[in-house]
Amino acid sequence: MQDLEKIKNEVLNCKKCPLYKTRKNPVLGSGNLDAKIMFCAEAPGYWEDVKGNPFVGAAGKILNELLESVGLKREEVYICNLLKCRPITPDFKNRAPNLNEIEACIPYLEKQIEIIKPKVICTLGNYSTAFIFEKYGLKNQIQGISKIHGKLFESKTLFGSIKIVPLYHPAVATYNINMKEILKNDFKILEKFKKDEQ
Ligand code: URA
Ligand code: SF4
Repeated sequence: MQDLEKIKNEVLNCKKCPLYKTRKNPVLGSGNLDAKIMFCAEAPGYWEDVKGNPFVGAAGKILNELLESVGLKREEVYICNLLKCRPITPDFKNRAPNLNEIEACIPYLEKQIEIIKPKVICTLGNYSTAFIFEKYGLKNQIQGISKIHGKLFESKTLFGSIKIVPLYHPAVATYNINMKEILKNDFKILEKFKKDEQ
């Protein structure tokens, strides 16, 4: 707990990339510090930036629904992003993270993973999938998310083996209704990780 509070404080004062200038609030993450399952998405959007919490806008509604569909509560998992501050275009729209921002921000995510020590990391979308696959030596197995979504990958860490499940970003279901069914289907894999013996 103390360690994560320390990171929270660092992020609050972070100026390692230019996104600090336009953020309202950084978004470190939320959920259970003993979580077995960690979700890592991309970056805060409008509402996350306003509230300082991950997945509180339209994509959050879908994520809640997906979690519920496999009997998981948000309080049981840990949810965070690759970037802690919202990337915006000059006209204040959301945009994708760039490489400099990712490089600057990644140490925070690495510390979060070290503290929470999840058994399973679900990457939401291409950006976090690329980063997590590279971090865990799975780079040669990476393909577009349309090829690997919902599949189970495994790797070793200093704290034991870790399972990695790449998933579509829930935001895709806000503009493509068919994606929700695909996501729901992929989420079923998480049912078996809820129990302790897995
Ligand atoms: N999209 C993300 O990638 N992260 C959030 O926290 C919310 C929307
Ligand atoms: Fe710091 Fe990350 Fe925010 Fe950039 S996005 S200012 S590196 S916390």
